Amino acid sequence: MSTYDDLLEISNELNNVQNAIYLLAWDERTYMPEGAVEGRSETISDLSRIYHRLITSDRLKKVLDELNKESVNAELDDLQKAAVREMTRDFERRYNIPDELIKEMAKVSSKAQAAWEKARERSDFEHFLPHLKKQVELKKKVAEYIGYESEPYDALVDSYEPGFTAKKIKHIFDPMKRKLSTLVKEILEKDITPGKGVFDDKKFEIEKQKKLCRELAEIIGYDFHHGRLDEAVHPFTMGMDDDVRITNRYTDENISSLFSLLHESGHGIYEQGIPEEWYGHPLGQRISMGYHESQSRMWENFVGRSREFMSFLYPKLTDTFPVLSDHEEENIYQAINRVEPSYIRVEADEVTYNLHIALRFDIELGMFRDELEPHETQEVWKDKMDKYFGIVPDDPAKGVLQDVHWSSGDFGYFPSYALGNLYAAQIYKTASDEIDNIQERIANGEFTEVKKWLNENIHQHGRRYRAEEMTKRLTGESLSEDFYIDYLKGKYGPIYGI
Ligand code: ZN
Repeated sequence: MSTYDDLLEISNELNNVQNAIYLLAWDERTYMPEGAVEGRSETISDLSRIYHRLITSDRLKKVLDELNKESVNAELDDLQKAAVREMTRDFERRYNIPDELIKEMAKVSSKAQAAWEKARERSDFEHFLPHLKKQVELKKKVAEYIGYESEPYDALVDSYEPGFTAKKIKHIFDPMKRKLSTLVKEILEKDITPGKGVFDDKKFEIEKQKKLCRELAEIIGYDFHHGRLDEAVHPFTMGMDDDVRITNRYTDENISSLFSLLHESGHGIYEQGIPEEWYGHPLGQRISMGYHESQSRMWENFVGRSREFMSFLYPKLTDTFPVLSDHEEENIYQAINRVEPSYIRVEADEVTYNLHIALRFDIELGMFRDELEPHETQEVWKDKMDKYFGIVPDDPAKGVLQDVHWSSGDFGYFPSYALGNLYAAQIYKTASDEIDNIQERIANGEFTEVKKWLNENIHQHGRRYRAEEMTKRLTGESLSEDFYIDYLKGKYGPIYGI
């Protein structure tokens, strides 16, 4: 067996352990009985330890050392080189962190998450503050072990967006913030409410929503033969090779479930688009968190909230919910695209969403550059909300405490959400240029070509190309905020008469 075959074998083992963890985690968040919490978390944490031992094993180290020797590496083809590059990255990011620190992180995180839940419930920032301090301190240490280009935050960002740094993100976010703030201001000055009253005082039967959701997932190309749709409090997608599961949540007050369904189906279609021969292969994975999010946002917003999609959806929607038939297509389209400054990121519209992320990025970077102390975050948060949206949360649960990420030490994660929107805009522009009559197709409910384009151009390559290279290959240009800004102006200009 060649050394490269050894690498494939180890990669396959890692993948199988990972799949087992994912399936248990899926169950934990969907059907697991309440009483099983402790036992399950023990099982998952033991399996995670086995995974960690495998990925930091001497066996893998030996294999990678050999494959990274100049003379040996030169003999590999491009695809094999990419596989070695990615596995080396996975290995190094973990191997360099001492076991003691990993144990401490797990302990601190579980305490911090419990404290965060309580703090949010009671709207008590002080209760969470010591844990936030501890997490920042630990992650600074971790960053030193992982190594970085020019500052500790780079090491953290790189876990979610390989190849990205704080500087690169700032270079995109700074102009994005300015342009988005201007657009938000123009929209708010209009002081109008598009699609006013469409969903007011109406009930939308949940069973009917579920039926329509399933139908939509199928129509856009999510494969139920290799997937399922279940319920979860916070919708998520879990991909385990030929078994890719999506989840959704429902309320009878509106039809937001349709868009969260499109979002998760987008994640699911990405996972299902990884070629079968790459299951367990070092490259058989997604490019980055941002790229994953670009796929979900594309189906949710660029396709799902478009005027054409509403033409397709309208007959089904009014058929399912006759209470909506009093409203014109255009009216419902406007109602699902209303721009409103809000406290809560996950409820934000397309125009304000990336500003929520920019706010978190500024604060995180401030803490990791030692320009901002954890105890100052609450006040800075308020100032920035005021600056960007003209609203100030009086309750930390609606401000600095709203997201779970800091409690689990996931600093550097937020930028991926915004990058997802930016990738989506740039990619969708190219797709629209390359797919004949894309708007007409969407209006007619024909999504095969769109899905095929994404499969062929993105999904089938796994993580062979890093995000920056992929974006250039796909669109001929480096990532830029301009595509997103142009998209927003083109869409919201007519809605708001700007
Ligand atoms: Zn998502």
